[in-house]
Amino acid sequence: MDFTEAKHRIEQLKAILWENSRKYYVENAPTMSDYEYDQLMHELEALEARYPQYATEDSPTRRVGSDLETREAQASTGREFAKYPHKYPMLSLSNTYSIQEVEEFADRASKTLESAFTWCCELKFDGTAICLTYRKGKLLRALTRGDGVMGDDVTQNALRIASIPETLQGTGWPEEFEIRGEVLMPYESFDRLNHERELQEEPLFANPRNAASGSLKLLDPEEVGRRGLFCTLYHIPVGQVDYPTHDEALKAAASWGLPISDKRRICHSIGEIEDFIGHWDTARKDLPYATDGIVIKINELACQSLLGYTAKSPRWAVAYKFKAEQACTPILSIDYQVGRTGAVTPVANLSPVLLSGTMVKRATLVNEDQIRSLDIHEGDWVYVEKGGEIIPKITGVELSKRREGAAIPTFPSTCPDCGTPLVREEGEAKWFCPNSQGCPTQIKGRLEHFVSRKAMNILCGEATIDQLYQLNLVTLPSQFYGLKAEQLVMLEGWKERAAARFLESVKASLDVPFERVLFAIGIRFVGETTARDVARHFGSIDAIASASREELLEVPEVGEVIADSIFRYFLDVENCREVEALRAAGLKMRVEEGAAAGKSDALAGKTIVISGNFSISRDDMKALIEAHGGRNSGSVSGKTDYLLAGTKPGPEKLKKAADLGIQVIDEETFMAMISEGNRFSYADNKADAPENLFPSDTVQKRSSEEGMSFPEASASSSAKGKDIPSADNLMEPTLF
Ligand code: NAD
Repeated sequence: MDFTEAKHRIEQLKAILWENSRKYYVENAPTMSDYEYDQLMHELEALEARYPQYATEDSPTRRVGSDLETREAQASTGREFAKYPHKYPMLSLSNTYSIQEVEEFADRASKTLESAFTWCCELKFDGTAICLTYRKGKLLRALTRGDGVMGDDVTQNALRIASIPETLQGTGWPEEFEIRGEVLMPYESFDRLNHERELQEEPLFANPRNAASGSLKLLDPEEVGRRGLFCTLYHIPVGQVDYPTHDEALKAAASWGLPISDKRRICHSIGEIEDFIGHWDTARKDLPYATDGIVIKINELACQSLLGYTAKSPRWAVAYKFKAEQACTPILSIDYQVGRTGAVTPVANLSPVLLSGTMVKRATLVNEDQIRSLDIHEGDWVYVEKGGEIIPKITGVELSKRREGAAIPTFPSTCPDCGTPLVREEGEAKWFCPNSQGCPTQIKGRLEHFVSRKAMNILCGEATIDQLYQLNLVTLPSQFYGLKAEQLVMLEGWKERAAARFLESVKASLDVPFERVLFAIGIRFVGETTARDVARHFGSIDAIASASREELLEVPEVGEVIADSIFRYFLDVENCREVEALRAAGLKMRVEEGAAAGKSDALAGKTIVISGNFSISRDDMKALIEAHGGRNSGSVSGKTDYLLAGTKPGPEKLKKAADLGIQVIDEETFMAMISEGNRFSYADNKADAPENLFPSDTVQKRSSEEGMSFPEASASSSAKGKDIPSADNLMEPTLF
């Protein structure tokens, strides 16, 4: 690998890891397995060690993944947790899947430490981390790990978890101390919760970890109490209690009524550690909750202090992670499922098998190439593994169990739903049904996406959509807005209350910000984050609809594929007509005043690097920079305009800024800069929303570019609205 390739791969890995970290910690909906994630992380670590010139401070190898609620999440859920700093940073653990690496870790520790020491081996509980502070024997605060420096305050929710005592018992607890551990959802509660959600047609949690983490951040503490969570604690940061060993500190904590697991062992040798790992690799399958490995910690607190910490994890502990559990079971049949974009995914129906505490009946086969590369034959016994997703993956075939003469499955040539011949375009891994406007599954899929919680959040499950579709009442999202209570109560299964609740949620969806509306309309490849970025970059649907491919590519993180998909979406007359119908129904079609896109232009064109801690979280600080038109960057370079330094800024960044002559500003100066910008608020001065901004010339221009004709009847053709606001009428200042 040459230098350019290394740099490129490092950037690529960082982007993949941050994106998946967000999905995992914030959305609680991972899409890759922990193993895959950890392998990519190890690849990045190795590359950064080899090419230190490309290692930046913002690398995921140096930061813990953040579970702090983002502004967007707060806006969409209406919940806002106070944030508090941790007295001691809440870090991660370095991890490995190899016993040999555990041995190497033990060797390194023995060489560094001169005095004798022991190991405390514990289960690695697979839940969500929590930090409890007790003052004078009473629970003062419960914080999530957050970004490791600040956490979300979830005290009211923690108080509903039966195993967390509000008041300590016994004697000898310090006046004030922090203790850390994990909140878990036992398999039984998880199955019950998902069953209830299935009945309510709500999205299911992928695994107990996500369910625990999602539950801890609920708005309603009563509901948290009903979720059946429990807590187990495993760490009191050094310096808070006066015991020589970690094990003794935990024993004391147990005597104060705190929930401490007894499934730990003091080990004196690597052999004993391996025995412990070997025992729990099997025995953990009988535990009523999820564990994903073993944590091996140096037991003597003085030795822990000596070894200290890296930026991300203690040097005195390592996690040995168990590989995802596998099960072997026969394929009963294969379904070919059509998604909302028309992509056809083969899904295997399996003979039910227990895997990581849940019964698995179906597993994805991804696409035709995957069937070929796994060499799947009908009736094969296959290995199934659970990744992050609800539908597990098939990872291999047990050839010894193959039936003689078993046929290779034939991928359908026509849509299993509407019969249209499937197409596979060059560069696509999947076959598609091109009948997007007529294929019932695609239409219903788009409706389901539109009503989903992260989109318009309309109370309407799969069965209801099917009913409304079958009765031809709703075939397009805009038709939800024309439904009447009188109509609904005549339908089978609808009562007045259900109709009223449904219509209320339809009405409430009119308040959904434009960023989510853009996500809801379901442009291929435009996920939540891209929709937000594109919406904020352009400000309105009209600006997006009339943007060229090149203009779309100017949005950070938007590449050729996404730009092309957005461009093509607005070339389709049916899509434009539907967007107009949604606008007529009252949906928001422009970014609102105060949304991050347009507080001011005070920092327009400025690249800012932040370092250190601020009075608000670093994420909020970054959001503030973006809201005022600036760009965040992780590392200081010739392109940096300011280094915004909080308390304890990184010495490397300060030095680099000094070397390059980059201005270093503090929080106060920064706040003054943006408050100056607020006086000339961009958003405040936008021209009135044009009524119809798919000017016919825009669409016609594109149609001819693409060699398509543009029918007269298009909703866009009236073009009675004003043009896109000019720079002049945007920038007229309002003084207040
Ligand atoms: P981690 O889960 O690998 O290990 C650290 C955590 O283990 C601690 O923060 C603590 O909460 C927990 N823990 C459980 N039992 C413990 C014990 N007995 N003692 C000490 N700590 C204990 O690290 P992490 O930083 O929370 O998460 C990183 C991991 O999360 C990655 O290695 C990866 O496996 C997973 N992840 C997966 C994805 C994905 O897309 N699948 C994305 C991000 C992270």
